[in-house]
Amino acid sequence: MTSAVAPLLEVRNLCKHFPVFSQGFVKRQIGMVRAADEISFDLYPGETLGLVGESGSGKTTTGRAILRAIKPTSGCARFRFADGMDVDAAALSESELKPLRTRMQMIFQDPFSSLNPRMTVKDIVAEPLVIHRQARGSELDDMVDDMLRKVGLKPEHRNRYPHAFSGGQRQRIGIARALIMRPSFVVADEAVSALDVSVQAQVINLLHDLQQELGLTYLFIAHDLSVVRHICDRVAVMYAGRIVELAPCDELFADPRHPYTRALLAAVPNPDPDVRMSFDLSGEVADPGRLPTGCAFHPRCSACFDRCSVDRPELKDDGHGRWMACHLQDRDN
Ligand code: SF4
Repeated sequence: MTSAVAPLLEVRNLCKHFPVFSQGFVKRQIGMVRAADEISFDLYPGETLGLVGESGSGKTTTGRAILRAIKPTSGCARFRFADGMDVDAAALSESELKPLRTRMQMIFQDPFSSLNPRMTVKDIVAEPLVIHRQARGSELDDMVDDMLRKVGLKPEHRNRYPHAFSGGQRQRIGIARALIMRPSFVVADEAVSALDVSVQAQVINLLHDLQQELGLTYLFIAHDLSVVRHICDRVAVMYAGRIVELAPCDELFADPRHPYTRALLAAVPNPDPDVRMSFDLSGEVADPGRLPTGCAFHPRCSACFDRCSVDRPELKDDGHGRWMACHLQDRDN
C-alpha cells in the first residue's frame, strides 16, 4: 500500500459485524456475523481496485460501509480529496456526512430495480442535483443533457421512462445518475453482472472512458474474475469477510499466491479445450457467523498444515506491493 501519490482513500481495520439474536419473547444475542472484518487497503486517485470473492465474502458490505450506506462497527475510512477535504467517513454523524455524499456515489447491479419506473429519465438523473440544491431550471436541464451524452444516450431520451430502454441503456441511466454530482469516488457493485456479455464489454469501456474524462476513482466489486481483469489496476480477493490477497491485477492473474486465489482462478472456464482445468475448491464457503478457528479457509485448503487451524493469518506486505494473509509466506521465507 505504498506509492509516491497520497491515497484518496485509506481503509484501516474496517469492520461491520451484525449481532444474531435468539427467537422468542426474550431476545438475547447468541452470535455475531462478521460480514466485513479488519479490512485494510489504500486506493489511489484515478485507480480502479477490484474487490472479488464468492457470494457472502463481504464485498458489498465493505463497499456499503465505506460509503456509509451502513455504519461500520469499527475502523476507519479516511478520504483525502484534492481540494484539501480530509475526513474519516466511518466516524461522521449523519448530518456531518452530507457534504461527503456528493463526492462518493454507487452504481448498482440491477438496472431493472434500481430505477424508479414512475420517473422519467430526466427526473431520475436530475434527482441528486435537486436534493442537494446544486442546480435548477435551464442549468439543470443542460447538466442532465450533457451527462446523458457522456454515457452514450441522447437528450431526446430524457422524457422517456425506464421500461422503454434495454438493460444496457438502463445501466447507462444509472451511471448518469451516479455521476451527475461529479463525484471523485465511485463504488460499482456488480455493475455489469446483470448484463449480456456483449453489453458488459460496452459498459466496461464506458466506465473506463468516464474514468479518464472525469478523473474518477473506482472500487469495482465483482464475482466475475474475467470482468475484473479488464478494468482493474489492482485486485483484492476476499474470503469470509477478510481480504486474503491484494496485488496488481497483472501479477495476481500471472502469479496467484494465496491458495484461495489459485482455486478461484482455476475455476474460471478456459475456452481452450487443450487446457485442463484443475478445481481444488471443494467444500462449503465459511459461514461468517460461525467461522472456523485459525485461517477461515483451512477446511477447504489443499495446502493446509498444522498451524492453519490454530492461528489466524494476518494480511502482510511482501515489500513489493503484494499483500497476503496466509501462513505459507512465513514458511516459505
Ligand atoms: Fe491454506 Fe493455511 Fe494459507 Fe489458510 S493459512 S490459506 S489454510 S495454507
